[in-house]
Amino acid sequence: MALHLHDTMRGKKVLFEPLVAGKVTMYLCGPTVYNYAHIGNARPAVVFDLLARLLRRSYELTFARNFTDVDDKINAAAIETGKPIGEITAHYIRAYVDDMGALGVQSPDIEPRATEHIAEMVEMITTLIDKGFAYEAESHVLFDVASFDDYGKLSRRDLRQMLAGARVEVAPYKRAPGDFVLWKPSPPELPGWDSPWGRGRPGWHIECSAMAEKHLGPTIDIHAGGQDLVFPHHENEVAQSTCAHGGEPFAHYWLHNGFLSIDSTKMSKSLGNVLLVHDMVRTNPGEVIRLALLSAHYRQPLDWSDSTLEAARRMLDRLYGAVRGIDIDTQLRQDAAPPKAFMAALEDDLNTPKALAEMFALAKKLNKAKDETERQSLAAGLLAAGELMGLMQGEAEDWFASGADGELSGEDIDGLLQEREDARMNKDFVLADGIRDRLAAAGITIEDGADGTRWRRSA
Ligand code: AMP
Ligand code: ZN
Repeated sequence: MALHLHDTMRGKKVLFEPLVAGKVTMYLCGPTVYNYAHIGNARPAVVFDLLARLLRRSYELTFARNFTDVDDKINAAAIETGKPIGEITAHYIRAYVDDMGALGVQSPDIEPRATEHIAEMVEMITTLIDKGFAYEAESHVLFDVASFDDYGKLSRRDLRQMLAGARVEVAPYKRAPGDFVLWKPSPPELPGWDSPWGRGRPGWHIECSAMAEKHLGPTIDIHAGGQDLVFPHHENEVAQSTCAHGGEPFAHYWLHNGFLSIDSTKMSKSLGNVLLVHDMVRTNPGEVIRLALLSAHYRQPLDWSDSTLEAARRMLDRLYGAVRGIDIDTQLRQDAAPPKAFMAALEDDLNTPKALAEMFALAKKLNKAKDETERQSLAAGLLAAGELMGLMQGEAEDWFASGADGELSGEDIDGLLQEREDARMNKDFVLADGIRDRLAAAGITIEDGADGTRWRRSA
């Protein structure tokens, strides 16, 4: 099966065909670095890392993910903490790279920073003014949305309706309420760069257009980001880049991940329900978090709850349990390819729930297989699938030995014991023993008796 992806611009799943045979360019909107990434921010990083891994199997991929290191939220954080802006952004860039690394996110080929591309932004803004798509007013430069016929196409919004519905206080220097900022003046205490329009700083949208052009060219294959970015960020990127490049399309495929919520509620600071990856990776193996993020289809909403990580942990118990104790021939392992049905699922718009189901089906087959050659070959296929998913790269023994959980709750332990019981009923003793070992590693002793299994915490 050939790769199919859901393109937001066309509003449907389509066959992926790169612009240049054998090569793919991809841009992902990265974080604004003024705080630690939360679990929602990790979703695009992880799902598009998986897409990058998949693409690299067939194409020469150039993947860029930026850092927005100039932004009003960063300025506000500097004022609040009394720290220099550069110190804040350097700290959170490092933390982002470490935290995403812990989730198995591979480094993109290029990680451009907005502050290192101001000259390119000024150049693009100048082009937009020269071509009549932007105008200067009171030291600001604004994009004139009425000048671009296709404005609103990506987000399926009608410009006239948008203007009629605009109730926001319109800045006096704007010709129309929908016009957006390409450049704005900076007072002396804020970061600023000299420009033909005076000392100032760029708007957010122009940053990505300029960095994508610099590193990937005027037209790219894939542009990705979270669903919230479709409007206005990506709509505005399309307008800027298309108009600066004489009408050439900006991106051929637009991919957007769905939103992650916590207990059916939007994550927000004011509700105090923000889960930071930086904290989570201290008490959870990164691959558990990664698997949890991949357990839903990337376009669907993902609701995170207390049980999400525990469910992912149990899935890894099953997967590691299946390959445990199998000494796979090195060559066989190197040559192994992921199973066809697994690949077909991923190539179907990154259907990770289906791909995981294929991995579990394989694990089940493996648990039942008696013949050593067959077991080795199934295990090698399962590990190849795991490698592509960014999972199962540790040793199975280490997984069961680490008990890499925080304190297991009573509910968790009961759940694991039930899972062990089910495994024993299914004669899956590898899994059953693995669960016992994991409990032991977490300091839980279990005693099987006539009236069931009891557990206690070892002192
Ligand atoms: P930001 O740093 O706010 O620009 O966000 C970085 C990335 O995380 C963007 O692609 C956002 O669309 C994405 N994002 C933010 N919140 C969530 C969420 N709750 N669920 C999924 N993606 C999110
Ligand atoms: Zn962007």
